[in-house]
Amino acid sequence: MRKTELKIKLSNLNHNIDVIKEYTNADIQAVVKANSYGLSASEVAKTIENKVESFSVITLDEALDLRKYTDKPILLLQGVHEQNDYKLIEKYKFDFVVHSSWQLKNITNFNLKDSRIWLKINTGMNRLGFDQEEFHKALNIVKELEIKDIILMSHLAASSIKDDKQTKEQIEVFSQTTKSLQFKKSLVNSGGIFNFSEAHHDIVRPGIAIYGGKYNEFGTKNVSSLSSQIISIRPVKAGTKIGYDGLWIAEKDCYIGSIPVGYGDGLPYFTNPITVKINGKKFKTAGKANMDLVMINLEQDNTIKTGDCVKIWDFDSDLSELSEEFNTITYNLLANISGRVSKNYLE
Ligand SMILES: *Cc1c(COP(=O)(O)O)cnc(C)c1O
Repeated sequence: MRKTELKIKLSNLNHNIDVIKEYTNADIQAVVKANSYGLSASEVAKTIENKVESFSVITLDEALDLRKYTDKPILLLQGVHEQNDYKLIEKYKFDFVVHSSWQLKNITNFNLKDSRIWLKINTGMNRLGFDQEEFHKALNIVKELEIKDIILMSHLAASSIKDDKQTKEQIEVFSQTTKSLQFKKSLVNSGGIFNFSEAHHDIVRPGIAIYGGKYNEFGTKNVSSLSSQIISIRPVKAGTKIGYDGLWIAEKDCYIGSIPVGYGDGLPYFTNPITVKINGKKFKTAGKANMDLVMINLEQDNTIKTGDCVKIWDFDSDLSELSEEFNTITYNLLANISGRVSKNYLE
């Protein structure tokens, strides 16, 4: 079998939740959208269920699958995408966001007494949510519904930047808009947990902080490690072109190793060299990303053999640095890994 695998250390999920709890007294909603950023929502939910107050996802399919593993609240972060979605929300007792007034049309046709409505306020990201005036109208409608609870929420646009001015403005708008309202409130994602402690309110919504790699300076750890195995080594002479478009040319005589992983596995496409590790030593890739292969410049190292393990990232890698090499962000690096990669869960 192809040995391209994502190892997932489940104990690091618990560690990361414990780190989050050192930074906040608020309840935790674990954001497990996009299959828990590529790690498997069901495995993540089973592991951390008793440490969180709820989970959140984007699609009904995600929510339906997760319902097999937990009775805790599951929030649909974009609410319904069509009115009929309320049927399944009713049946499976999902929580849901309301960000636009069309989502409230005909809502009284459904029995939503087991759901919490998360009413979304636009505080300055200008993506989803009600502006001030509309918000109060929507709140008045929602207050009349027979539902389990109302939670007021918003989302921060730049919480990863400490002392960010736009974020401070958003926090202020949220406080002003909701201050006289006696409902639970939820504003921050991972960045807000670490960088804006004054804005935690009742429920925080970490995603990446649970999965590690972006905020490790605060004590979280990578939960995953992506590795492959050398399946071919060839000696090449200086001047030899490697791979598609002959883009990469050997400057010196060297060995080229190939590993069976590529953008078909969700690795972000790249043309500039990426750093990988073999037997603890760093090497650079040679040539453009392929769908199914990556070539590595093994230089003059003749100790490396076919079958040797190549770490694209490991539990102790700096994923922020690596994602910069890929010209992307940590989220993209993690969430993109496709179903073709075998996943192995370690305790
Ligand atoms: C994805 C998402 C989060 C989690 O964001 P992280 O930066 O991964 O912590 C929180 N809230 C909402 C509304 C989201 O869409």
